[in-house]
Amino acid sequence: MRLLIWLLLIYIGYRIVKGYLAQREVSGRESPGLKGEETHKDPVCGVYVAGEDAVVGNLEGEKIYFCSMECLNKFQEQLQHKS
Ligand SMILES: [Zn+2]
Repeated sequence: MRLLIWLLLIYIGYRIVKGYLAQREVSGRESPGLKGEETHKDPVCGVYVAGEDAVVGNLEGEKIYFCSMECLNKFQEQLQHKS
């Protein structure tokens, strides 16, 4: 009988810990500052930039985001070398 009570307590503890972790995961995903903000990968240096802070380039109608004008220029140079 005692064993059953212990098992029950362990089970409840497990559920509480699991619920707590799940809650933390959700709140971590919705951390303030990142909410609704899109990030884009700079194809030149590989840095992730927020859409608002990015330098936006255009390639055949497709928007490309860069962290700086320097990267945009490098990207254009690379394109010119390819073609
Ligand atoms: Zn960059």
